[in-house]
Order: sequence, then C-alpha cells, then structure tokens
Amino acid sequence: MSSESFYVAEIFASIQGEGWYAGYPHILVRFSGCNLECTYCDTSYARKGGVRLELDDIMRNIKSLRIKRVLITGGEPILQTGLMMLVKRLLDEGLFVSVETNGTLPIRDLTPLSHIIMDIKTPGSGMNKYNLYENLKFLKEGDEVKFVLTSRADYEWSKEKLYLIPDGIIVDFSPAYNLISPKELAKWILRDRLDVKLHLQLHKILWGDERGR
Ligand code: SF4
Repeated sequence: MSSESFYVAEIFASIQGEGWYAGYPHILVRFSGCNLECTYCDTSYARKGGVRLELDDIMRNIKSLRIKRVLITGGEPILQTGLMMLVKRLLDEGLFVSVETNGTLPIRDLTPLSHIIMDIKTPGSGMNKYNLYENLKFLKEGDEVKFVLTSRADYEWSKEKLYLIPDGIIVDFSPAYNLISPKELAKWILRDRLDVKLHLQLHKILWGDERGR
C-alpha cells in the first residue's frame, strides 16, 4: 500500500456513540484491517478487506458530508501508513479529529495532533497481553482510555489498573454490548466511588446493529 492510499470499510455521517463527544454529529471514517481478534468484536466486517481509496478521495467524501467533527476508527486505524497525512489534511480543513485505537500499537506521533480514545484491552477480550502500556505516557489532557468490560472479573481487573492512568485522562468503563448490564456496572462504580465515566454505546441504543448509522 502506498502511503497515500487506505483500506476503507465505510465513511458515513452519524451521531458519535462513544466517549466524551458522544451525542455530537460526526463523520465516521472506518478503516479496514485489525491486528487483534477481540471476543466481543462488533465490527468484524472491518477486520479484513476494504475498498482501497486515495487520500484525495477520502477528503472529497468527508467534505461532502458537511460535519465539523471526524472520528477515525476501524479495525485499527494506526495500521494505515498514511494516517498522519490524513489527520494533518483534516486539521488543515479546520475539522476536529478523534482517533480510536485498540492501544496495542505506538501512538506517540499521533497524540499531539488528534483527540485519542485508546482501549486498554481487558482479559475478557482475549487480547490483554497485547496492551502497550507505554502509550499511556503519550496521552494528553482530555484524551480518553476505554475499558470494555465483559464481566465482573473484567471490572475488578480494570479497577486494579486505574493507578496507571495519568491525571487529566478521562477513563471510560463500557459494558460490552449484551454481556454485562449497564445498571449493574453503574452500581459497582458507585459502590466503589470510582472516578470513571459510565460509557454507554449511544449508537447501539439508537441504531442497534445496523451498519452505516
Ligand atoms: S480491536 Fe476493535 S476492530 Fe479489532 S478485533 Fe478488537 S474490537 Fe474488533
């Protein structure tokens, strides 16, 4: 792949479902390709394949959607070698850019440019051995770390990891869809007085499993 072309699963306008900016209209750019196989993956269609698009095509597509916030997701977007170039082009257009990453690849160069939502993979994902904890030191104030919880055991494990999170980083605890009750998770967070954000997948509440919404 040349540094200016990308493997794209879909580009569409939607309401951001996750993180601090949940509820705001965003353009979602979902890249294809992922280096993980999480047990709860709900975007398996984006783990492989994709349509090859040039940077200019992606920019044209984004501009036509007329929304000022862009969420770059996947798959794992950091696998796209031209990602930095795309982010810079979006910033040049005056757009706000968030990147969602699974947290297992280096983010150092990306963090100064973009709002970051980075996973810390829990044991229930089956992928926790790949977490790159070194990434935590490159996050900046207002970036987010997300734990997707599949069970009470994941909750306890994640709680133990909170000491690693630097000040100023928002921590999201998200119940894996249909695996753990948001109400139960809310009770655990309150009982333990955790300073974390209960993170519901707004797009699932709005659109269920529909693609491109
Ligand atoms: S990192 Fe994301 S896209 Fe990749 S397997 Fe896990 S949930 Fe799916």
